[in-house]
This record gives sequence, structure tokens and C-alpha cells, in this order.
Amino acid sequence: MSFSNLVSDLAFKDARDDRSSQISHVRSQATARSHTSTAATSVSISGDISSQLHAGYSHPLSRSWQAERQLTKEMLIYPLFITDNPEEETPIPSLPNQYRRGVNRIVPFLKPLIHKGLRSVILFGVPLDPSAKDALGTAADDPSGPVIQTIRLLRSRFPQLYIVTDVCLCEYTSHGHCGILRDDGTLDNAQSVDRISDVALAYAAAGAHCVAPSDMNDGRVRAIKLKLIEAGMAHRVLLMSYSAKFSGCLYGPFRDAAGSCPSFGDRRCYQLPPGGRGLARRAIQRDIAEGADIIMVKPASSYLDIIRDAKDLATDLPVAAYQVSGEYAMIHAAAKAGVFDLKAMAFESTEGILRAGAGIVVTYFVPEFLDWLS
Ligand SMILES: [Zn+2]
Repeated sequence: MSFSNLVSDLAFKDARDDRSSQISHVRSQATARSHTSTAATSVSISGDISSQLHAGYSHPLSRSWQAERQLTKEMLIYPLFITDNPEEETPIPSLPNQYRRGVNRIVPFLKPLIHKGLRSVILFGVPLDPSAKDALGTAADDPSGPVIQTIRLLRSRFPQLYIVTDVCLCEYTSHGHCGILRDDGTLDNAQSVDRISDVALAYAAAGAHCVAPSDMNDGRVRAIKLKLIEAGMAHRVLLMSYSAKFSGCLYGPFRDAAGSCPSFGDRRCYQLPPGGRGLARRAIQRDIAEGADIIMVKPASSYLDIIRDAKDLATDLPVAAYQVSGEYAMIHAAAKAGVFDLKAMAFESTEGILRAGAGIVVTYFVPEFLDWLS
């Protein structure tokens, strides 16, 4: 029964018994009070008492209590593009405010960010020297290559910084694909997994806290985990799997940045088709069974349903979401065009990702968030 119906029902009963007893006299006084209060509120109250929600978020603090998860600096991982020229610091035109940096430029760049609360970075190797690329991606685990050098440097200079390394071959292969190819141009899964897991092991040995295979070859999580166990590093190296990585145009600016565009074909035979929710669920379940410690979904904002699926399937694992280069670039472009405010949209987009179920967000907005969240 609604509040206003309840009041009019009582009023009717009271009117009927009005002349009879003292009890009804007391009741009618109560009714009169009810009438007074109802007269003021019945305009706005048309449903149950439970329809009244505003008090729950009328204050800034009570608004913050309504969020199941709130964005904190600890949730953020910042992607860095490390190139093979140690002195390089070049802006990436398609990714506003983002740079390709050489190893000598990393420490001065990160120092103020760490001071503001930066906790974690993910490293992408971006060799620009053409001789660094071959059919097997040999340079990926070159001990003198930019990623391994940077891992060592950051571990010694910033001991508190949590270092994630993306693990893939596409930045290092002459053909730009994420593994080793057969003669017919298709991925040789077994050889690719063997190579990818060796690269992951090299990053772990150099001091990475977390290895994150993004290649999407079948079975690579298990292979990496087994090699980590064999090498006695499984207890200290976390394995974050790009489990549900969908193909699509949102990676465009990243490919610009990383110079990792395939020289022929595309990645649709190993990255997931955009409508492939069932495949994503199977990949997530497979990677949990193969020993992943964190499940990642990529891109983020277009796949909030998959992030929710990941959280439901990986109940006991953290779920990460990668807000990819295209998502970031779109927000920047729209803000520049005056469509909306950059800060407001960055928050809304990232908080939407958290609401879907992610507890970790990889995003190019990290430097801004370090200012906005302080
Ligand atoms: Zn790749």
C-alpha cells in the first residue's frame, strides 16, 4: 500500500468512527496531523516510502559511500613505451601527452610521478632500429634491449615501483604479428608459445614483478607458469593474462606508438571477434585453469559486459581492464572539440570500468589522475 493510500484509508476509517469513543478521538487527532504532513508531501510521494532515495546521496561524503569501488592511485597502471635510442623523447602524435622514451629519459620522467603516488607501470618495448626485427622476434629478450635494461634500472632506482612487462613478439617481429609464423603466414601456436614463455621468463629474471602476455596464443599462460615454477620464480612473479583481448580499430594509436602494425593480414585469427562473448568467457576460464593470477579485459569501455563476466567467472581473482589508446584518444579529441570536460569524462569512463567489476585499470590518464586524486 502506498503512503498516500494508507493515509486516506486511515482518514476514511476515522471519519466513520468519529463520534463513538475516546480512542477514535485520539485517532482523529493523529489523523489530523497525518493530513497536515501528507498535504505537504503527497505531491512528491506517489509510490512507496522506499521510493525516497535522495537522502542517501545528498552530501558529498554520502555520495562517495554509494560507490562499491572508488578509484584510487593503487588501482592504476601506467603504460610506458621504451625505445632503443637511450636519449629519445618523442611525442606520439596520435596519443596526446604520451611519448616514446629511451632508457636515459625514464628516471627523470617518472620521479615526479612517483612523488605524486604512481605505484605501477607496464613496459612496452618499441625498437625503432630496423635491424632489431626478425622473423622470430629475437630482440624481445635481448639482455641489452630497452625493456630488460629499463626493468633493471627501475628496480634499482625506484624499489617501491611495481613493474609489469607486456609480453609479446609483435614489436620485434619483421612481419609485425604476435608470434612465429608458418610458411603459409598463419601462427605456429606451439613455437610461438615456446618463444613467448621464454621472453616472459627473461623479463621475470631481470626483475619484473609481473609478466603480462598479450599475444593471445593458446596455452601460453600454462607454459609461462610452468617455466616460472621450474625457474623457482613462481612465488614472486605475478602472471596477468590478457585473456579477453578483442580485435578492432581502438588499437590504432598504440600501433602508431609501438610501430607494431602487421606487414600483411591482421590479427583477427588470434584476437577475439568483437561479438565473441562466449569465446571471451571460455578464454577467461581457460586462463584461470592455466594459472593466471589476474584476468585482463581489453579494450575496456566497449566491453563492460565482458568485464562483468570476468568478475563473475574469476570471483577470486583481481580483474584488470585496459583503457586502450583509441579510448584515450577519443576522450582527448572530444574534450579538445569542446564536447565535454576532459577530467569529468576521464572519471566517468574509468569509474564505469570499476563499476563493471574491474579493480585495476591500465590507462594513459594516470599522470592526470595522480593530480586529480590528490
Ligand atoms: Zn602483439
